Amino acid sequence: MTESLVLVLNCGSSSIKFAIIEPASGGELLQGIAERLFSSEAQLIVKHNGEKQLTAIPDADHKAAMNAIVEQIHQTGDLAGRIGAVGHRVVHGGERFRSSMLIDDEVVNVIASCNHLAPLHNPANISGIEIARAAFPELPHTAVFDTAFHQSMPEKAFVYPLPYELYIHHGVRRYGFHGTSFRYVASQAAAELNRPLDDCALIIAHLGNGASVSAVLNGQSLDTSMGMTPNEGVVHGTRCGSIDPSIHEYLAHRLDISIEQVNDLLWKQSGLLGISGISNDCRTIEDAADKDHKRAQLALEIYAYRLAKEIAALMVPLGRLDALVFTGGIGENSVRIRAEVIRQLGFLGLTLDEQRNAAAIRGVQGPITADGSRACALVIPTNEELMIAQDAAQFIAQ
Ligand code: ADP
Repeated sequence: MTESLVLVLNCGSSSIKFAIIEPASGGELLQGIAERLFSSEAQLIVKHNGEKQLTAIPDADHKAAMNAIVEQIHQTGDLAGRIGAVGHRVVHGGERFRSSMLIDDEVVNVIASCNHLAPLHNPANISGIEIARAAFPELPHTAVFDTAFHQSMPEKAFVYPLPYELYIHHGVRRYGFHGTSFRYVASQAAAELNRPLDDCALIIAHLGNGASVSAVLNGQSLDTSMGMTPNEGVVHGTRCGSIDPSIHEYLAHRLDISIEQVNDLLWKQSGLLGISGISNDCRTIEDAADKDHKRAQLALEIYAYRLAKEIAALMVPLGRLDALVFTGGIGENSVRIRAEVIRQLGFLGLTLDEQRNAAAIRGVQGPITADGSRACALVIPTNEELMIAQDAAQFIAQ
């Protein structure tokens, strides 16, 4: 019998990413994106059998885009009939979800009750779920949450030093994100280290446009750098990461702007973009830094310094280090950021192997520290889609 496939959906506010995956091998048989939704430039891009097909879907909303996706999938004939489950990425599961869930109406209601915690993401995730349930009513649908992995954090790690009632009555606490990536990378790291996952002390740095670092002991998240929202912690592409909370009020008064405008500054105009003044993209900044662009150099310096400090701080809950793991676009490709972070963390027993570091790019997995290094640093390409597919596959009727 051929193995059932999983349709993985990641429905954002203006895009739907999708892939059809073989859960055991991780093979991606089709992938695509419907992007720029709600605009005249909305388009659907599908890659299948080495071919890329582009279809204009002007002014499409989520529903129209999903219909176009379903139509394209049906045109691949053989694939459509082999899909046995749908896996949905959901950003915020609040405190209610500690693991992936088979979706029913009740689960959708609980996800909706977390909307206020992720107003940009959860409503779009729910639209994706509802439209896909209507399109594939006979298939099991699974919600896989970015936050679920961090529900193992102890109270001392997730409660803010604010009035405790704000946590109890308003959900103001640290949740953490990138959990699906951390879960995947942790198990890959254990295999790479040749140790059982339940005897592994890892610090994982997921460095994409948003970045977060997590201390993972024996497969469980002990603490993580993102908090109530995906802005806390290290420097991001356009988000500021941790700053003095009083800066909000200062900016509002000093610049005479609204709280929304302050938020816009801290979420969309800060981070690598804000410091460098040229881009949120690490490659562009590295190129400019090579050409002696001072603010690009400063952006990289601050990025690496704050990241190294966050990693060092996470050694407090972790206690020992088997491996520091880099993942995400920057973690998987920036030879320079990795080298700088490891140099600053030499006291943890990390000694860089420059050749290995230079070779670990574009999907290469493996150690980047020297053979005699007391602690190990690894590069592990993440694969959130595969995790979602594997979680969803568990609900395929045997
Ligand atoms: P997202 O969080 O949107 O999934 P990614 O994980 O794809 O983002 O990471 C995007 C980041 O990875 C960008 O800052 C990009 O510049 C960076 N990146 C990709 N390739 C390289 C590279 N070769 N060198 C440095 N940074 C890179």
